[in-house]
Amino acid sequence: MRHGNFRGAESECRLLRTTKTTASTMSTASTAGKVIKCKAAVAWEPCKPVSIEDVEVAPPKAHEVRIKIISSGVCGSDHSALNQIIKTPFPVILGHEGIGVVESIGDGVTIVKPGDKVIPLFVPQCGKCRGCNTPNSNVCVKFDDSFGELAGLMEDGTSRFTCKGKLIHHYAGTSTFTEYTVVSDLRIAKVDANAPIEACLIGCGFATGYGAAINTAKVTKGSSCAVFGLGGVGFSAIAGCKDAGASRIIGVGSHKEKFPKAMEMGATECVSTKDHEKPIHEVICEMTNGGVDFAIECAGRIPTMMTALQSTYPCNGVAVLQGVASKKDILSLHPGLLLTGRTLKGSMFGGYKSDGITKLVQDYMSKKFTLDHLISKRLKLAEINEAFDLIHSGTGIRSILIY
Ligand code: NAP
Ligand code: ZN
Repeated sequence: MRHGNFRGAESECRLLRTTKTTASTMSTASTAGKVIKCKAAVAWEPCKPVSIEDVEVAPPKAHEVRIKIISSGVCGSDHSALNQIIKTPFPVILGHEGIGVVESIGDGVTIVKPGDKVIPLFVPQCGKCRGCNTPNSNVCVKFDDSFGELAGLMEDGTSRFTCKGKLIHHYAGTSTFTEYTVVSDLRIAKVDANAPIEACLIGCGFATGYGAAINTAKVTKGSSCAVFGLGGVGFSAIAGCKDAGASRIIGVGSHKEKFPKAMEMGATECVSTKDHEKPIHEVICEMTNGGVDFAIECAGRIPTMMTALQSTYPCNGVAVLQGVASKKDILSLHPGLLLTGRTLKGSMFGGYKSDGITKLVQDYMSKKFTLDHLISKRLKLAEINEAFDLIHSGTGIRSILIY
């Protein structure tokens, strides 16, 4: 089922008038300029289940966009934020892997109009900074805003969300676990109007893993690869290695029940961390005549990051870290591991800028890749805690919430 009609909003949401209207006169939705009351998953406290609440979503201010979210994936990073591995202020509406339709726009917004289908971006694009102006990076100087001084707030230092009279924080500049969200116009990729609900995965997990292989590792034809951590990002990294023409792709994980799906995604073999007494990097090196050409870490754990590096061939192996560890975690390694010629790199959002996300959606629409193997569960917003439980147990691949 496709959810493309933001006008349905009125029947679902109680509208409240605001005294101050900042929405642009270009906005056409009848909800424009008004506070929208809708359902959202509010995380009141860290490490506790989230609760479905009626929240108020204020109209977008200048250079902001209010979006009716139609679906959202639940990413390992949302689980990490809920559990304070990634620091973010509470209470908060999490979620950063969504797709939706623009409901209204604030003054000065030119890149989208009401009715456009969009993916909110947790990595913004100011278009002016060094990161935005080099083809070698996608990390904008404003990225730090979402986790630094302005963590949980819009650029003017306020929130657009309230619930039971309390301010509710934004997360990652996106907050997609809500029927409506407000984001900066620097955090928008306009996508094909017919993009289906599954395309939400391009808003984080798929782009992150696929791009880590294609853009960051730059996996080569005929090479050997190992992907560590078989969640949504790891599965997508496997897809990237496959599309880059790798001849061996080893999926490494601890839940064997996910292996058949990993093989469908493109893994040529899988290794269970539970099946071996010796360190896993030794197992991988023995399997690959000294180490893989490319290793991609997708678990967010320091020991797995070391394993990934040590699994690469000493002369020219490339290890890409894109799992997010806690701020307290330190990766300490002997420089000799790099002196022989290995490269250690990091990757954020698979290296994609906003236009890359628009193009990935286009490629998905023209069936250049599938997202089917990634989706292990389809849930309603109200069932979101089940998605967090699946991440916690490591048994799921990716759950998507359909609103
Ligand atoms: P996920 O759904 O939690 O999957 C991670 C997988 O790694 C799990 O399914 C599990 O699979 C393995 N794993 C996790 N914790 C483990 C543990 N304690 N011990 C052993 N194995 C463990 O997460 P995801 O959404 O795929 O994301 C993966 C990582 O990338 C996370 O750290 C996330 O925060 C990060 N991330 C980074 C970016 C970026 O831009 N850099 C973007 C999105 C996500 P198996 O045991 O079966 O392998
Ligand atoms: Zn994510």
